[in-house]
Formats: sequence, C-alpha cells, structure tokens
Amino acid sequence: MKLVAGMAKGVAVFHQPRVVVEHTVAEDIEAERARVYSAFRKMREQIDTMTREAEFGTAGEHQEILETYKMFAYDEGWSRRINEAIDSGLTAEAAIERVQQRTRARMREIDDPLLQERMHDLEDLSNRLMRIVSGRFGTAAQTGLAKDAILIARNLGPAELLEYDKRRLKGVVLEEGSLTAHMTIVARAMGVPVVGRVEDIRHIVSEGEPLLVDGDLGLVVVRPTRTMTQSFDQRMAVGQKRRAEYAALKSKPAETLDGQRITLMVNAGLAEDAAMLDASGAEGIGLFRTEFQFLISASLPGRESQQRLYKSVLDAAAGKPVVFRTVDIGGDKALPYLMDEKDESENPAMGWRALRLSLSRSTLMKAQARALIEAAAGRTLSVMFPMVSEPWEYEEARALFDEQLAWCQSSRRAVPSKIEYGAMLEVPSLAEMLDELLPRIDFLSIGTNDLTQFLFAADRADPRLADRYDWLSPAILRFLKRVADKVEGSGVTLRLCGEMGGRPLEAMALIGIGIRNFSITPAAVGPIKAMVRSIDAGQVTHKMTAMLARPPREFRKALADWARRHRVALG
Ligand code: PEP
Ligand code: MG
Repeated sequence: MKLVAGMAKGVAVFHQPRVVVEHTVAEDIEAERARVYSAFRKMREQIDTMTREAEFGTAGEHQEILETYKMFAYDEGWSRRINEAIDSGLTAEAAIERVQQRTRARMREIDDPLLQERMHDLEDLSNRLMRIVSGRFGTAAQTGLAKDAILIARNLGPAELLEYDKRRLKGVVLEEGSLTAHMTIVARAMGVPVVGRVEDIRHIVSEGEPLLVDGDLGLVVVRPTRTMTQSFDQRMAVGQKRRAEYAALKSKPAETLDGQRITLMVNAGLAEDAAMLDASGAEGIGLFRTEFQFLISASLPGRESQQRLYKSVLDAAAGKPVVFRTVDIGGDKALPYLMDEKDESENPAMGWRALRLSLSRSTLMKAQARALIEAAAGRTLSVMFPMVSEPWEYEEARALFDEQLAWCQSSRRAVPSKIEYGAMLEVPSLAEMLDELLPRIDFLSIGTNDLTQFLFAADRADPRLADRYDWLSPAILRFLKRVADKVEGSGVTLRLCGEMGGRPLEAMALIGIGIRNFSITPAAVGPIKAMVRSIDAGQVTHKMTAMLARPPREFRKALADWARRHRVALG
C-alpha cells in the first residue's frame, strides 16, 4: 500500500536488529542455563501479557499470531534442545542460534506452505528470546545507520522514526501502517517514501540485502536484478524531472484558470522544516505541530528551549505567516515522561489528548503560551488549539493566553505586535457550534485526519481500516461543504490542514466546495499548484454541486474521469 510517495534505493535495516552472537563458548555452563531459563520465563510473561491484552483489543499483534507464539513459547521440545546445546558448551546466545539454524534446515526440507509460515513465527520468537537473553533491546536508530538504509518493521511510532538520521534513512517498509497515522505524516514531512501493508517483509528480506522502494506505486523489490535496477533508475529520473517542473512553478501564483487565488501553506514540525518554505515556494506554515519537539526529547522541553525553537522558526519564515498549534499529545503521540502511567484507555485517540490534556496540565500550557508570546515579540503570533470539541474549551485556552500576555505586559516584556487565535475543526461536534465560535476566532483550520476518523468512527492508525473509507465520499464532502458555507462571509479565514488537501484530486474537490486555503506537506505544494493552475474553479464548483446532490456510486472514479476529460493536472 502506498503511504508516502517517492522512490528510494538502499539496504534493508531491521528496526529491531537481529542480535549478532559474539561469544560462542561458555565459561560456566550452569550460568548460561540460568540465563536461558530466566529469558524463557520473561518471554512467556511477555507473550501472556500480549495475549491477554489482545483479548481486550488493545494489543497490536493479531490473535492468531499470538496463539502460535504462545504454543512455541511453551514448547518443551524447543527449550530442551536449547538446553542440550548449552550442555555441549555453548553460550546461551549461541545455543539459541544453533537450534534455530537446525530447525530452519529441517523445516526447509518439508514442503508445506503452512509449516513454512509457522517457521516465521518461530523465528520471531527466537529473535525475541535472543534479545532478552543478550539484553539488547535497542532499535537500529541507537546503533546508527552505516549506509543508505531502508528500514524494515512491523510498525513504527512517530517518535521512533524521528530518532533516525535523516541523511541515511531513505525509505521505510512496514507490515502494517496507514495513511494518516502520525508516523506516516512524519515520514512525509521528512521526505522518506513509505510502503505499508507488505505482508511478511521481515521474513522475506534479510538484514543488509539491497532493496528498491517505490512509494508511488506501493512496490518493494527485494534482491533486484540489474534490469530491475536500471528501469527503477529510469523512473527515478522521470520523477526528478517532474520535480524540476514543479520547482519551475515556484514563483508562479496558485491561481485557477478563472482567476481564483488559492493559498498554499505547508505543515511543519521541526526546526529544519522552516527551510522548506523557500524551497517549496509556499506562502507560510499553516500548521506547525509543536508536539514534535516533545516527541524527539527524552524529557519535557523547558520553556527556554521551546522559545528558542519558535523564534528560530519565525526567523526562518522571514515574515511569512506561521501558525503554531499548541501541543497535541496523546493518541498515537504518547510521551512516556509526561503521562503518569501508560495510557490504558481503549481508545486513546478519543481520550485524554490535545487540548483536553493541555487544559488539565495548565502549567504545561502556560509555559508554552509564554514561550510563544516571547518568541514572537514585535511580530504577529498565530496560535491554534487542537481538538476543540466545544467552544468553552477554546475560551479557556484563550483566557490562559490572555493571562500570560497580561503578565508579560505588566512585567514590561516585549510582546507580539498582534496575536491571532484559531481553532482546529477536527471533532464533528464543533461544526454545530460555529455560530458561537466564529465571532471569537480569527481562523478555523479543518484537520481532516482526525475529522475523518471521528466521522466514520474508524481509527486512523488501524491498518485494517486504512483503505476502507474514502476521503472522496459524499459524507465527508457534504459535511465540509456545510462548514465552508457557514464560515463564508464571517470574516474568519477557513483553512484545511489534513493530509487530504495534499492530494490533487481531493484538493480539486475541496476547491469545488469552497475551500481556498490549504496547508499541506511540502512535497505536495508543486503537484497541488499544478492542479490549481489547470482548473476552472467555476466548472469544478458546478460539478461538485451536482455530484453532491446526486452522488454517483463510484464517487472517486466519476470525479477522476471528469478531471481527466477536463485536462486537470493530477500528477
Ligand atoms: C488532523 O487531524 O487532520 C491534523 C492536521 O492534525 P494531526 O494529524 O496532527 O492530528
Ligand atoms: Mg488532528
């Protein structure tokens, strides 16, 4: 499945590396036996916990895999063979490896696909046992990447991905993954292509093997032949040419054929991202995800370090607007050092996250408010609050900022020349309260990533739901059109900052329902501008109105056919 577009070449690196056995000869056989016993005990505990959690629907592993794991974990034959290998004088690590090699050889002789599959599970378990026994739990990020790397994992969290060296990390291949999971968003921001839902990749490929990753087609080539690499290189060159064409559009306006101006800003989250502004030709940063700084830190970033980051972003933006979103922590952006305990709620995306958490942890929010106010001294500060569900939450957050501003003024500190406040619309309930909210805000930013998951009740990080619902569905588009109609004429700027806006066909549909401001991933600025410059907004509006009044069964296909007939540049 295509998660992040782009093409990459490199060697396979396992996110959780296989342990390399350094010592094979045991000095003390009984000590080695004790190590293996204790490792088995720990491994069984882990598997039992995972199975228990899976029964209540919280574990990531699938039930069936866990059942097999459990069977192997308690298999007496396996532990006996390891023990025998220790008797012959091997260290615990060497014994586990020896038994694994022999099992692998035996299984290879049996021509049974079902058994081969079980072998994968046993390999996984054997690796787990090895990591426990050797105490090596680190990821490949900790050991560092030696060459251009394609990272292989079952799944990754956004913080785990951010730990990798961006210069060496060329691509990611996952067994799971979904389009709007934060890890995918981070990868998109880093410009790292990602292919997801590649079943069994951890067993098909070995560490260090060459790989080709095609995020445009959603393909991964393992052990490519020379001809495959050549044709890949050719396609990569075509991609570069297209990027050069997009770059040529940089100084051209994002204006439709009938003269409608569209604003294209970018989403960012790291200090370096601000440099992308110039390269992409975007008009500003429409969403700066301040929680990324929290995700990459080992402990809570202090007010001074927050202030330094915000100031450096404003400096790099050189007068272009930057919209800072207060921290959106929680959900799939969990912070071990901030949460009192592991979030055990069944549904963290709908739980104690974003503004809910910030308002209850007011010291955290006060520090962020002060950092933002002082960083923007003498300039315009734009602040927006995530996950506002009812207007009073916005009011509380706003009051907290007003209080900090008043404090800065009374202690004669330099303050921003102007502060603009906005809310994200990503919880459907807020759409019903716009009459109350609009007079209080300067801008409203639609977060389609969360909005979609709440409208469809479909977890944005669940790989099984990743392609079940389409952004080009009448349900979402009608909802958004009602929002756009309500905001129209209120003087409030309406912007859309979810991943949906970075896809040409989707963005075209959004223009057709009245959205004119977008904040998108930097790599999408070129393709979206090309699309904008190829459409007649009046015609698109007409088409969308008709399609939403009487939706065709295959909405996406009907719209794509129409776009092709009208020569819309869809990339
Ligand atoms: C969204 O929900 O659409 C959004 C832009 O915010 P995030 O992806 O960070 O939740
Ligand atoms: Mg969101």
